[in-house]
Amino acid sequence: MNAMICDVEIKGARKQFGSNVVLNDIDLEVKQGELLTLLGPSGCGKSTTLNLIAGFLEADQGDVYIKGKKVTKVPPYKRDLGMVFQTYSLFPHMTVQENLSFGLKLRKVAKTEQKKKIDRVLELVKMSGLEHRYPRELSGGQRQRVAIARALVVEPELLLLDEPLSNLDAKLRHELRAEIKRLQKEIGVTTIFVTHDQEEALSMSDRVVVMNAGKIEQISTPTAIYNHPKTEFVFQFIGKSN
Ligand code: ADP
Ligand code: MG
Repeated sequence: MNAMICDVEIKGARKQFGSNVVLNDIDLEVKQGELLTLLGPSGCGKSTTLNLIAGFLEADQGDVYIKGKKVTKVPPYKRDLGMVFQTYSLFPHMTVQENLSFGLKLRKVAKTEQKKKIDRVLELVKMSGLEHRYPRELSGGQRQRVAIARALVVEPELLLLDEPLSNLDAKLRHELRAEIKRLQKEIGVTTIFVTHDQEEALSMSDRVVVMNAGKIEQISTPTAIYNHPKTEFVFQFIGKSN
């Protein structure tokens, strides 16, 4: 692995909804294999940034690169990524197994190979034996585990997690934080994690991007953010607890 390679780059991204400037000239580089967290208050532009990377939104100005290739005009399904949202990530009418095989079928993976990949990834997220359950028969935490498994089963280049823990209770949130971190390092998949929770960001990430009102305030390691906040905003925001 080469730490100098950037898996994702955003250059000069600007996005406006009506007169609301949501992203104001964002530059960002995500290194290969790192877990980078976008942290900031609700409405600061975290999901918009993630959606530019996923291709669900296009910037008014600026470009997105994945593995050095400009993807600004490339549709989401042609970008090699897995995504998990806060809720509703699973198909409700499909079992765990069916949810996981969906993306594999699209990629024309052979049946026996599908089974192997699904078994392996379910083991990774500690959900072995539950492949015949429907989402409604799972707890919130189990559902998010399956959602993560579904994103990972296709072995994406990039994993995008948009507040995947925000709907869970505190105990589960702590548990899954540690698990996502372990899993991410084990697989080595470049990951962009979004949260509004300072503690979550500081405890999980290789690097944290603090955002405020469509701008990046600071990009640093958790320790540097905590010990050396660059702006008054970062100082105030990191000091707050949820
Ligand atoms: P965050 O994820 O940090 O909470 P978002 O990126 O979702 O923030 O939103 C940033 C701002 O953009 C908010 O003011 C939000 O209301 C606005 N916004 C997001 N999506 C849309 C949209 N599709 N149309 C209009 N405004 C939007
Ligand atoms: Mg959001």
